[in-house]
Amino acid sequence: MGRGAKPDVTQKGALNNNDPMLFDTHAHLNFKDYDKDREKVIRNSLEEGVFMINVGTDINESKKVAEISKKHKKGVYSSIGLHPLYVEKEDFENLLPEYENLARSSVVVAIGETGLDLQGKNMEKQRQVFLKHIQLAEKSGLPLILHCRKAHEELIELISNSTSKGVIHCFTGGEKELKEYLEMGFYIGFNGIIFKMNLEKEIRETPLERILLETDCPFLTPPEAKTERNEPLFVKYIAKEIARIKRISVKEVAKVTTRNAVNLFKL
Ligand SMILES: [Zn+2]
Repeated sequence: MGRGAKPDVTQKGALNNNDPMLFDTHAHLNFKDYDKDREKVIRNSLEEGVFMINVGTDINESKKVAEISKKHKKGVYSSIGLHPLYVEKEDFENLLPEYENLARSSVVVAIGETGLDLQGKNMEKQRQVFLKHIQLAEKSGLPLILHCRKAHEELIELISNSTSKGVIHCFTGGEKELKEYLEMGFYIGFNGIIFKMNLEKEIRETPLERILLETDCPFLTPPEAKTERNEPLFVKYIAKEIARIKRISVKEVAKVTTRNAVNLFKL
């Protein structure tokens, strides 16, 4: 592709300054929940200026998110990895060459979701697989999308030796963990869980410059959406709630968090 030519698939580094209005940095439009209307859901979002990252949860879903990205000129990015709840379902180490190959694709902007989930099984395996993801992120130069449930202390210990940065997706930790993540240079992802749990203090204490918006769709639908299934478009309700809590304009939240996403994922 020549310089200045418009890419015909979503690619890193191809964004103009004021392209997206809002950024859903954690979506799962690859899930079967969208088999009947996936392209329509994506179109609805893009038409409203909502860009997205679809997040893989195993090798097949990671391949699928990349395929979905390739169908779009702009704004539909991918993250690849094995979710900590599925570490016993596939042999990550054996599949590593396939993941490495995917990580080289121009549509893949992050490694994950990966991390630790205390409600899952086999913590030892989770640890091993997580460390492999950290190495993959270092090797590929991509940021991490981290999933953590009730295992912050250990997760912090495991990533503290790495040069890799990223986002703590669906943050539900306390003030202590928040402070540590911020000191280490991580971004904090907030989604519809903020309508279920009281995270107002944590949201106030996270500088806007370190917040990423996400939906985790099809899950965690904001109540205002008045529908069961979540989608990237509804990230606007997260922006609105954060604006309310921080007493700033929705426009400011949208502008800064979108810039954060562009910076972290090198778009
Ligand atoms: Zn997720």
